Amino acid sequence: MSIIKQLEQLGIKAQTDIKQADSGDVLEKLRVGLLGKKGALTSILRGLKELSVEEKREVGGLANRLKGTIEESIATKREALSGGSGGSTIDYTLPGKPHAHGHRHLVTLVMDEFISIFQRMGFEIADGPEIETDHYNFGALNFPDDHPARDEHDTFYVDGGLLLRTHTSNVQIREFEKRTPPVKIIAPGRVFRNESVNARSFCVFHQVEGFLVDENVTFGDLKGALEAFCYEYFEEGVNLRFRPSFFPFTEPSAEVDVQCFLCSGKGCTLCKYEGWLEILGCGMIDPEVFRSVGYDSEKYTGYAFGVGIERMALLKYRINDIRLLYENDARFIRQFR
Ligand SMILES: [Zn+2]
Repeated sequence: MSIIKQLEQLGIKAQTDIKQADSGDVLEKLRVGLLGKKGALTSILRGLKELSVEEKREVGGLANRLKGTIEESIATKREALSGGSGGSTIDYTLPGKPHAHGHRHLVTLVMDEFISIFQRMGFEIADGPEIETDHYNFGALNFPDDHPARDEHDTFYVDGGLLLRTHTSNVQIREFEKRTPPVKIIAPGRVFRNESVNARSFCVFHQVEGFLVDENVTFGDLKGALEAFCYEYFEEGVNLRFRPSFFPFTEPSAEVDVQCFLCSGKGCTLCKYEGWLEILGCGMIDPEVFRSVGYDSEKYTGYAFGVGIERMALLKYRINDIRLLYENDARFIRQFR
């Protein structure tokens, strides 16, 4: 077969193969097989030295045009395969890929719900630093230097005498310094404690601290506010119990328990056979705290409370391990929108 005939046949076969190529890899193999150093075109042209000068010129020209055509076809096909403009392979009738919709995390949802409930009760929102001085986290809140309550907080200390706040009560002091009563504020935010991580506790969690200072504020006002909040949040009849407790910055202090949802108070593994689950701490603000911010403790009284977001989320949504909230397993997170 003459060289010219061979070149013509190579051209026809190349166009068919390029058309049928279904991936970039196949196309690249084709290109090497046709135009590479050991490719089909080169091997045909090896017969060139048998020819006369005139024939060489003719065949050479044909070979160059063929090479150009093949390169062009490959380029066009490559663009089509990658979804580019020459795309005869795109099927416009196929349904599109749906966009993944994000949503808020359960911790944020519960936090937003708390904020919404307390806003309707007339509380303002305030924010404060997560890296704090000893004074705002402990000192001004009536934690004496050698008080064991400091150890209970398992504090993370930072260079320069600073610490990661162990509660959002630091906002209490910062706001008291800026305002004169009446003050009615909630401080939602992240807090840090150097606790061992297990099903019940985590080293980072969220808290809403609330405080009200005015003339004639009583423990009855505190009970009323917390009951209203709990009834709203749990959306069902819940039994609450106030149990005497101790916090350095409140006197008297109480912890609030809610009757166990699982066993209705009879006792089960969730409530450790107590029938009650602890949900928050609260009390009347200690006069020492007022003294540290220059409020007249003879004139004003006030209450404060602190609710853990994660704990309340676990209770309401019957989740048995706090770590699930932080493992970012989409299968878990997607259940709460
Ligand atoms: Zn129970």
